[in-house]
Amino acid sequence: MKLINEALTYDDVLLVPQYSDIESRKEVSIDNSLSEDILLNLPIISAPMDTVTGHEMAIAMSTMGGLGIIHRYNSIAAQKKEVERAFDQGISVVGAAVGVTEDFEQRACVLFDAGAKVICIDVAHGHHLLVERAIKTLKDIFGDKAHIMAGNIATPEGYKTLANWGADSIRCNVGGGSICSTRIQTGHGMPGLQTIIDCAKHKRSKTKIIADGGIRNSGDMVKALAAGADFVMIGSLLAGTDQSPGELIYNKSGTRDKVYRGMASKEAQFDWRGKYSSNEGISTTIPHKGNAKNVLESLKNGIKSGLSYSGCRNIIELQENALFVRQTSSGLAESHTHILGIR
Ligand code: IMP
Repeated sequence: MKLINEALTYDDVLLVPQYSDIESRKEVSIDNSLSEDILLNLPIISAPMDTVTGHEMAIAMSTMGGLGIIHRYNSIAAQKKEVERAFDQGISVVGAAVGVTEDFEQRACVLFDAGAKVICIDVAHGHHLLVERAIKTLKDIFGDKAHIMAGNIATPEGYKTLANWGADSIRCNVGGGSICSTRIQTGHGMPGLQTIIDCAKHKRSKTKIIADGGIRNSGDMVKALAAGADFVMIGSLLAGTDQSPGELIYNKSGTRDKVYRGMASKEAQFDWRGKYSSNEGISTTIPHKGNAKNVLESLKNGIKSGLSYSGCRNIIELQENALFVRQTSSGLAESHTHILGIR
């Protein structure tokens, strides 16, 4: 048995404001390259979940400069259609997810032919033999024609291993998602920011780090990028928007909700494979948020503002100059709005 003493997550730290000569957010660029031929103007990727990314979300993501990964929890034909619907709309890049067993190889080929140039090997425990086989199989098929995203991993060993297997980008964080119960169900995981800090120490320029899960606002995004992530992946922030798959639920009170669920929740597993095994997520409803583009615009402005507080004009400068400070629980309480006396 070994014990790692301490691991941090987003609420444990703040970025220290630093001298800035940036006069306008327009001077700040948050562009980042996923690969030589895929440049994103917004370092945000939408999660491959059936209540987050179908063709409408993929279009909204691409239109706003980010990337959508179309979920895999349907037939190959249905997922292909989603990719085609996005790619017809003339968007520059769309991603699509596959698993590691059964039809994954055929699925990946169909999705690639339909226009998905980013293929995401989407499993909960990515530091795994089956992921090695899947990455190597897809690399053999596509070479450099497809970008292979894989994950999820929690440790630098996981990051280095998947990079050696050939992954072009790696989803980092196990058990941190808002709808995730993996840490409770299995006792395994790693506080999310720590995974980014640790993996960034071993970063290879060609193997991008994606901070995935547990990101609740643009402040968390700035912390993830400052710690070394190239991109962030989000689910809950985009769930409940007009572009997330799923019907609106009309409440008696006049409010509207949408379902958001973990793909390892009992409900999701029943829907996509007719049974469930280890239940590692929940299904819930969240308030309808309107257009995803407004959500993304607000996140973009928050990230840009965040960079300017560190005096940085781009993500590389942020990663070089960011200064983190540990905060106490009193500091965290002070960080949230806390006006007294409001009724
Ligand atoms: P969120 O942005 O905090 O809502 O987290 C979204 C992320 O949670 C996804 O990108 C996945 O990595 C992860 N995830 C999705 N479904 C499940 C689940 O059922 N259990 C655990 N993690 C999940």
